[in-house]
Amino acid sequence: MRAIVVSELGDPDVLRLSDRDDPKPGPGELLVQVGAAGVNFIETYQRSGLYQMALPYTPGAELAGQVLAVGEGVAGFKPGDRVATVDARGSYAEQAIVPADRAVPVPDGVDTETAAAVLLQGMTAHYLTQSTYPVRGGETALVHAAAGGMGLLLTQLVKAAGGKVIGTTSSEAKAKIADEAGADEIVRYDQFTDDELAAEVLRRNGGQGVHVAYDGVGAATFEASLAALRPRGMLVSFGNASGPVPPVAPLRLSQGGSLFLTRPTLGHYVAARQELEWRAGDVFRWIQDGTLSIRVGATYPLSEAAQAHRDLQERKTTGKVLLVP
Ligand code: NDP
Repeated sequence: MRAIVVSELGDPDVLRLSDRDDPKPGPGELLVQVGAAGVNFIETYQRSGLYQMALPYTPGAELAGQVLAVGEGVAGFKPGDRVATVDARGSYAEQAIVPADRAVPVPDGVDTETAAAVLLQGMTAHYLTQSTYPVRGGETALVHAAAGGMGLLLTQLVKAAGGKVIGTTSSEAKAKIADEAGADEIVRYDQFTDDELAAEVLRRNGGQGVHVAYDGVGAATFEASLAALRPRGMLVSFGNASGPVPPVAPLRLSQGGSLFLTRPTLGHYVAARQELEWRAGDVFRWIQDGTLSIRVGATYPLSEAAQAHRDLQERKTTGKVLLVP
């Protein structure tokens, strides 16, 4: 089978297509024919060395596809079943091994590409809006990169909860996409300094700070996100698209208004099987009942994985990025 293999850290060109032996499922594992693999920002952090990986490796953890074979002791899945996961061992491939206890069934009403497009970012948007900071009706959320994969889902879920969304984007084309997803206000953050950006967010919120800032952009927006919060507001720093956030002194949170700061990651919110099933079940249900609309902004063949990373990192994509082997 063909798979992307990374043998050295570096720029997107280190993502090379190779021929590998077909994987075999061990005890408790599934062998899955990859229908589509989700491309996520974390794979750029791993490829560049920001997050550590043992070399060589096949990138990717998110996929949806069909079970080809099951290992010893697997109950609940059989060949032919459609499954999705955020814990595949290398989803940038034609076939991948998935621990059976980390796979979820894909319901009939959700097609395979949509399942691959939504599971990781959908469960992330789920935990951020239902568990980390559950937005209530009438509250305001600042959502950075609102036309991105995470941004579009967060926007829709805050709106579904009755909240107000102030979204940020770097272009008019992206502003239009965020607007269509339901953002109440859209700020072109490329046109403001940090201080001005926070002031603009307050201005768009009737002079009040926001209840929560969902910030996956990281270094470039961190200060503005803190400054845009109301007293006792929460900064949910969930990503580093522009680079990691430098250290911050706890006193800064006191001076900003007894603020809360958290740096969550999906793994800690779906560690228990029951929690994984709850979040995945809600996300698939929300697609079927129209609460969530999924925008696949770009689809690439496996051989163009490097281009997919380049486009994601150069801010050229909107919505979800997929690889289809
Ligand atoms: P996006 O589709 O949101 O793409 C990233 C966007 O960030 C860009 O399109 C761009 O939007 C914006 N951006 C701002 N500055 C930069 C920069 N310097 N370089 C690149 N992009 C920039 O990606 P995802 O939806 O896949 O991920 C968004 C964030 O969420 C990432 O940081 C990711 O790591 C994080 N994440 C965290 C998870 C968790 O559990 N903690 C799980 C999933 C994702 P614009 O052009 O409008 O500025």
